[in-house]
Amino acid sequence: ALPLVAVVGRPNVGKSTFVNRIAEGNEAIVHEMRGVTRDRSYHTADWNGVEFKLVDTGGIEMGDEDTFQASIRNQALMGVDEADVIVFLVDGKTGINADDEAVARILRRTSKPVFTVVNKLDNPQSEEALYEFYALGLGDLWPVSSLHGHGTGDLLDAVVEEL
Ligand code: GDP
Ligand code: MG
Repeated sequence: ALPLVAVVGRPNVGKSTFVNRIAEGNEAIVHEMRGVTRDRSYHTADWNGVEFKLVDTGGIEMGDEDTFQASIRNQALMGVDEADVIVFLVDGKTGINADDEAVARILRRTSKPVFTVVNKLDNPQSEEALYEFYALGLGDLWPVSSLHGHGTGDLLDAVVEEL
């Protein structure tokens, strides 16, 4: 089986945009119903001849506050469980919120490689927004713009080294 990279993070940080930029094809969409929808889509990708799969952990439905954060945590837990490498996407435009912190708490406990990727840094001026994310306690940060593709090459070079 191909190695698996899970893309986790709260809704709207750009997970699907990121995955669609990197993936070559949409392989399968798995729907899970258990109070909240936890759809995940699996994609194949290739970086400099290294093939891997990407799982986009999307499709969280809005519920009340507790259900919502619980479903984000579930997505992250499933990602950690099945993946070889975890890409934790956060939103450089909005900054850290409580949902990011909930995911970070889970990811700080895994021994698997975690790449904390600060998305939506579309231009050099916006890179100042990077620094507040060190507070998540996950070490190195990777600035990217999934919209333009900035930073994704350096990130993928590092990710495939862990596969
Ligand atoms: P998801 O819920 O985490 O899958 O997020 P989406 O991929 O659906 O993206 C949420 C919104 O953020 C969409 O309007 C995207 O166009 C926007 N977005 C995603 N990546 C970027 C980026 O790098 N820069 C900017 N400016 N917007 C982005
Ligand atoms: Mg999505």
